[in-house]
Amino acid sequence: MKTTNTRRQFFKLAFGALAIAPFVRVAEVFAAAAMPKSEAIKSKMINDKTAKRLKYVADAAEAKKLNASGDKNYKKFKEGSNCANCKFYKADKGEPEWGKCTMAANRYVAGAGWCKSYREK
Ligand code: SF4
Repeated sequence: MKTTNTRRQFFKLAFGALAIAPFVRVAEVFAAAAMPKSEAIKSKMINDKTAKRLKYVADAAEAKKLNASGDKNYKKFKEGSNCANCKFYKADKGEPEWGKCTMAANRYVAGAGWCKSYREK
């Protein structure tokens, strides 16, 4: 009786692990996509202090939500605006989804990001 329970528990765990394995892989892929590939960019990414001052968010969709919620730091947000079409952004040649922002002391920001100093190109 005890052996059956143990065997049943083993199979439950084994099949459970197999069932979630593809989702873990998908999560890893998304996490990798959200980070720059090169160490040079990672080491020069916008830091917390600068990000805080600018109210930077790595995804403009977040700025849109904050704007809709009435957060005054995001009142200037306009649909379609993001770092990639900001005049302070200079896309990296190797990884164009990341770029240097002169407003953030040439730190790297995500092209999909946004901050309150946004200026249209
Ligand atoms: S100034 Fe422009 S490029 Fe820099 S973080 Fe703000 S929106 Fe992005």
